[in-house]
Amino acid sequence: MSFLIFWDNSSPQGLQGPVARGISGILERPVEVVENPVILRGFDRTRNQYNASRILTDMQDIYTRQHGIGDHILIVTGKDLYIPGRDFVFGLARPNIRASIVSTARLRNGYYGRREDVYDAIDRLIKEGTHEIAHTLGLDHCDDIECIMFCPNTLDELDRKRKNLCPQCREKLTLALEEPIQD
Ligand SMILES: [Zn+2]
Ligand SMILES: [Zn+2]
Repeated sequence: MSFLIFWDNSSPQGLQGPVARGISGILERPVEVVENPVILRGFDRTRNQYNASRILTDMQDIYTRQHGIGDHILIVTGKDLYIPGRDFVFGLARPNIRASIVSTARLRNGYYGRREDVYDAIDRLIKEGTHEIAHTLGLDHCDDIECIMFCPNTLDELDRKRKNLCPQCREKLTLALEEPIQD
C-alpha cells in the first residue's frame, strides 16, 4: 500500500514538501509527491468550476484500466471543484478506485479576502488531503468536530479541526492500514 500525491501545476508551488510530510505524519506511512500527469477535464464554463466527480471518473479509466496501480492517489489542484447538487466541494474521494482530489482554491485566505498565509494553506491542505485519502481507505465522516474526518462546510469548520483523527477514526485507520496489499 503506497500513497501518491499528484500535484497539479494549477496548485501553489513550494507546498509539496510540507504537505506530504504532514499527511505522512498523520497516516504514519510514506507519502510521495509527483507532478500531476492527468489532464483535468470537467470544466463547467457557466460555473467556472471543475466537476470533481468527472475528474475521478477519468482517473478510474487512466489508472485502473491502463496501469492498474494499487496506490492511493490524491490529486491536489488549484481549480475550484464542485459536484452536481453542491455549490462547491473542498475535495472528493472514490474509495473503490482509491483515488481522491482536493482543491486549494478555497483553502487560501485570499479567497475570503483575508491576508494570505502560507502556513494556513499548508495546514488546511494537510487536513483535507488526509481526509480524502482516509476515505480511500474506507473511513467515513465523523461527528467529532475536531476530527479530520469531520466534513466541513465552511473554512471556519475546517480550521476548527485538529490535524489528527479522533480515537475511533484512528482505530479504523490503523485497521485499514493493516489490510493486506491487494495486488
Ligand atoms: Zn469527506
Ligand atoms: Zn473521528
